[in-house]
Amino acid sequence: MPRPILATVHTAALQHNLARVRQSVPDARLWAVVKANAYGHGIERAFEGLRGADGFALLDLAEAERVRRLGWRGPVLLLEGVFEARDLELCSRLDLWHAVHCDEQIDMLAAHKTQVPHRVFLKMNSGMNRLGFTPGRYRAAWTRLNALPQVDEISLMTHFSDADGPRGIAYQEEVFGQATADLPGERSLANSAATLRHASQARIKSDWVRPGIVLYGSAPDFPEQTAAGWGLQPTMTLSTRLLGVQHLAAGDTVGYGSRFQAEQAMPIGVAACGYADGYPRLCDTGTPVLVNGVRTRLVGRVSMDMVTVDLGPLEKAGVPFGFGSEVTLWGRAAKGEVLAIDEVARCAGTVGYELMCAVAPRVNMVVDGSGS
Ligand SMILES: *Cc1c(COP(=O)(O)O)cnc(C)c1O
Repeated sequence: MPRPILATVHTAALQHNLARVRQSVPDARLWAVVKANAYGHGIERAFEGLRGADGFALLDLAEAERVRRLGWRGPVLLLEGVFEARDLELCSRLDLWHAVHCDEQIDMLAAHKTQVPHRVFLKMNSGMNRLGFTPGRYRAAWTRLNALPQVDEISLMTHFSDADGPRGIAYQEEVFGQATADLPGERSLANSAATLRHASQARIKSDWVRPGIVLYGSAPDFPEQTAAGWGLQPTMTLSTRLLGVQHLAAGDTVGYGSRFQAEQAMPIGVAACGYADGYPRLCDTGTPVLVNGVRTRLVGRVSMDMVTVDLGPLEKAGVPFGFGSEVTLWGRAAKGEVLAIDEVARCAGTVGYELMCAVAPRVNMVVDGSGS
């Protein structure tokens, strides 16, 4: 019998979230961003839920191969383009579209022997200052690419730094709009936050939007907005079971460092989940958790293989508990109660993205295809 910790990927929730994004941007084509192994869900496990997208966008060539192996014949985009010249051979062979963000990538293309010209997405650094050509150098890059026989259609792309925050996207739209005003080609700008928050007032229409996190049921702008508030459903549940129950007397302490001390008599549960499963050690007393669907909290420090939870709320509500009781670390409990991954992430000073990407390999991950 394996340890009872389990991650479950919900196909129907992926489909639901995809439909939710379509509602926001009905006229755009939609890249499902599946980098980082589909944000930790596993490309193969997420595929059924996301195959209604218009294409798959990712970083890793091995991940692109996996998408093709699943039988996907539609567009696949490498968001960072190629890393070395021979990657272009794989692009030709697998018909991958790729970002071009620097001169070195144009040099590689110019030297590449291919029968079929490549579709490329020319990336502008419009203010985020990670990848891309600055506005002043963008046109020269476009002209150079446009003259290459290895290049087919050129699309224009940039990435927003603040779509989830107060600064917003206008400062980058301005820069991008000015530098590309008379260039032909499709545009790709919006990530999840831009898609949800700015689609209606966007000054530049995105022909291809690039949602990631929203597909996986996490709010890009938590806590200003919640996933439920955006109409999203959790696509990953991390669940486990109670291994034991302790009855504390007032003054008793729990766990390493005795970081929690009971003020009064209370039952606590010991659950099979620890930081070696990818549950953040920075979570501490107060982090929300569901036991038998009842919302309660962690008490004491997260250990490598165990966490301890307050069973007082179950006792008060008259909900039975004991060895084997269901514990939901995030996602959906058996009877449907939801604990947003964003709430747990916040307790660890991080974001839902990081938690879903960090589920450890020792955690068995399965697909719940019901309802899809
Ligand atoms: C990761 C990524 C996205 C998706 O971002 P989300 O915030 O998850 O929606 C979009 N575009 C690029 C270039 C990315 O790297």
